[in-house]
Formats: sequence, structure tokens, C-alpha cells
Amino acid sequence: MAETKTVHSPLVTYASMLSLLSLCPPFVILLWYTMVHADGSVCQTWDYLKQHGLQGFINIWPRPTAIAWKIIACYAAFEAALQLLLPGKRVEGPVSPEGNRPVYKANGVAAYVVTLVTYLSLWWLGIFDPSIVYDHLGEIFSALIFGSFIFCVFLYIKGHLAPSSTDSGSCGNIIIDFYWGMELYPRIGKNFDIKVFTNCRFGMMSWAVLAVTYCIKQYEQNGKVADSMLVNTILMLVYVTKFFWWEAGYWNTMDIAHDRAGFYICWGCLVWVPSVYTSPGMYLVNHPVNLGLQLALSILAAGILSIYINYDCDRQRQEFRRTNGKCLVWGKAPSKIVASYKTTSGETKTSLLLTSGWWGLSRHFHYVPEILAAFFWTVPALFNHFLPYFYVIFLTILLFDRAKRDDDRCRSKYGKYWKLYCEKVRYRIVPGIY
Ligand code: NDP
Repeated sequence: MAETKTVHSPLVTYASMLSLLSLCPPFVILLWYTMVHADGSVCQTWDYLKQHGLQGFINIWPRPTAIAWKIIACYAAFEAALQLLLPGKRVEGPVSPEGNRPVYKANGVAAYVVTLVTYLSLWWLGIFDPSIVYDHLGEIFSALIFGSFIFCVFLYIKGHLAPSSTDSGSCGNIIIDFYWGMELYPRIGKNFDIKVFTNCRFGMMSWAVLAVTYCIKQYEQNGKVADSMLVNTILMLVYVTKFFWWEAGYWNTMDIAHDRAGFYICWGCLVWVPSVYTSPGMYLVNHPVNLGLQLALSILAAGILSIYINYDCDRQRQEFRRTNGKCLVWGKAPSKIVASYKTTSGETKTSLLLTSGWWGLSRHFHYVPEILAAFFWTVPALFNHFLPYFYVIFLTILLFDRAKRDDDRCRSKYGKYWKLYCEKVRYRIVPGIY
């Protein structure tokens, strides 16, 4: 059984774990409250809390209602059914630290198309009005907060009692096990991969569904959709479409191949993605800014370019790995480092590290266009309020931390070869600066 390792010092790890566990749930509620009921103004919410104290905060926390549970249950059951039943190519994931190779069914694009077509058809045919989701958003987030916490407890117990593979184990500390997770690839039965469900089919899919919901809500409220909302919705949908187009590639990334299924990743995908990631759109519902055609198109073009570059970085790395370096990178043979490492079972394996193309500019250049894309789908809100920009700021901190975690992990995995890579490609994220 593999042991869980933490990359930060124990003190930082505990402090960040405990503060995230206790602060994230109330933050989600305050964010929703401010966006929907306090005009997006942090000052207004602050004044309210100053006046009414803790009891005031308890009063604004919506109770999870039956309709909220029903919406979540129908959505989750629909997504789980699509994940299990839609056809898809058999795809092998990367070799795990224990030497296992998980197998997936790549049906993400089909699930994405079926979900959006079904949702829009239900609206069009008058069977279900997406505005209901917006009107019960607080209750839905509240239900998600409690439901996902219970789900993470289930993951913890499953990790102890019935792990799905040898890529699992306890570090002996209950809080770290709960927070970072115990299993790398938990499954129900042989085929239902829990992380594909939480991260992709529930979390990322909810992003697209809520983006459409916000747009429809503004239309039903005002009889039209402002160009700022259109730019925001289109960019978020392009981003999520890119995600599902590349979903099998996502199964090779840190989230799936390295981070275990615990509170950090699963609660994040089940609650944080639907609430925080979609928050610029949530704000725009009640703030229909008119940008004018030229500005709207310029922001749209800049956002699409950023999403394309981010996609191309991921594509370049994966194409390079898939072809074993026998591909062209920016029209030339790639430069590379052949790095060997040992798996936890003691086997020696090799990986190729790409040192040209996007991956020669900096070691995590792909985070630059990721942050820019988020900025471009937020900037239609202009600068009256700070809160719509929370996601961009959060993402920047997350990705800078992630780059450090990834560097540390790769350094301990590849040793001298990683050092060589760092000498060749000196900057971590922003070429010439950091
Ligand atoms: P990746 O997993 O794609 O890349 C990191 C891994 O790639 C490393 O762990 C290493 O794995 C391998 N690697 C590192 N350097 C090289 C190299 N030079 N050549 C070949 N392989 C290399 O990173 P992320 O998971 O962080 O990002 C994937 C995508 O997800 C990005 O588009 C990112 O922007 C996006 N993302 C979005 C987030 C959001 O919240 N919106 C959060 C995080 C990511 P190995 O062990 O195989 O060598």
C-alpha cells in the first residue's frame, strides 16, 4: 500500500487543510448571497454581517430544500447513467505509482452534447424552466455542501474498507487521509470511475449547465440577453467544450493521475466548481452591462485565443508523449530529456520531458493562457465590483501553488533529470519573470 505524501511543511499543510475545511463552505454561501441578493457588493454583505452578526449569517444560509435535493439527484443520476451507458473508445490512463494502468471509456463529448441538448430541449418544450435552478441556487449550494461532505466521508470509509486498487493507503492521520484522500482510482464495480464522475461529469458539466442557466435567467428576467452575458457564456462554453474534447487527456493530469480522491479534489469539484467557477456568470444575471459590438468581439476573440493556446499546450505535451517524441513541435523535431525513475514497486521506467515548443518557454506555461481566459470571461462585468474577479484571483493562487506542488513532485520523481530540465527551462510559469 502506498503512503500519502504532503509537499508543504506539516504546519502549512495542517493550517491550509483546517482553514479550507472550515472556511470554504461559508464562503460559498456568502459568495452566492452577495452575487444574488447584495448586488455583487462585498461592502453591502459586510455591512449586513456587521449589523446582524452570526445570527444574521445563519439567517441567510439557505436550508437544503426538497426541490434542491431533487434537482441534484436528477442531474447526478442522469450524468451517472450517461457515463455508464453511452458508448466510447477504450482509453488507458498513465501508469500509476503502484504500476497499475486504469482503463476508461471516453464518452465525455457525447455526454456533454446529450446533457446540453436535453437541458435546452426541456426548456424549449416548456417541461423544465432553468430559471428554477437559479431561483433555488442557494438551497442547491447548501445541499451540495452537506451532501458532498458526506460523500467525502464515504470515500474515506471506502478507502479503508474496500479500496478498488493497490493505489490506495493511509498516512496514519485521519485529517490528512480525509483531506487528501486515500484512493487514487476509486471505482464502484469495475467500470464506474468515481473521479471521472465527480471531476468531469458532475463538476465540469455543471459549469456548462449553470452558464446556460444564467443566460436563460437573464433572458427571462429582461426579455433579452446583454452582450456581456453572451461573451461570458460563449467563452465559458468554449472552455468546457475544449475540456470534454480533451477529457481523455485530462485523465493524464495531476488531478486524476496524482491527487487522491479526498475532500481537496472531490469536494472542490462537487461544490467549488459549480459555485465559484461559474460566479462571473452568476454576477452578470443582475448586471446586464452593454459593451458594444466592437469591445464585445475583441474580448471574445482574446478569450478564444487564450483557450486555444491553453489547449495547444496540453495537446503538444500529450502528442509528444503519445508518439514517444516522434512528432513535430512548432514544425521541428522536439528537443527532449529522457528521464528515468523508479515506481514504488522498484521497477525502473522512463518518461520523456519536452523542452521545446510551449514547454520550452517555461515549465508550466499552460497556466498563463488558463488565467488569461478566466480574465476574459470575467472582464465583460467591467470594474464596478471586485467580486466577479474572485475566480481569476483564486485561480492564479491555485495554479502558482500547483506549479510548485508539481515541480516538487517531479523533482522527487526524476531527480537529476528534473534538475537538468530546470537548468534548460529556467522559469516556472511566466517566461523571463517567474
Ligand atoms: P499537467 O498534468 O498537464 O502537466 C504536469 C505533468 O506533466 C507533470 O506532473 C509531469 O507528469 C508532466 N510533465 C511535466 N513537464 C513535462 C514536460 N516538459 N514534458 C512532458 N511532460 C511533462 O498539468 P495540470 O494538470 O496542472 O494541467 C492540465 C490542464 O488543466 C491545463 O490546461 C491547466 O491549465 C488546467 N487546469 C485548470 C484548473 C482550473 O481550476 N481551472 C486547475 C488545474 C489545471 P509525469 O509524472 O507524467 O512526468
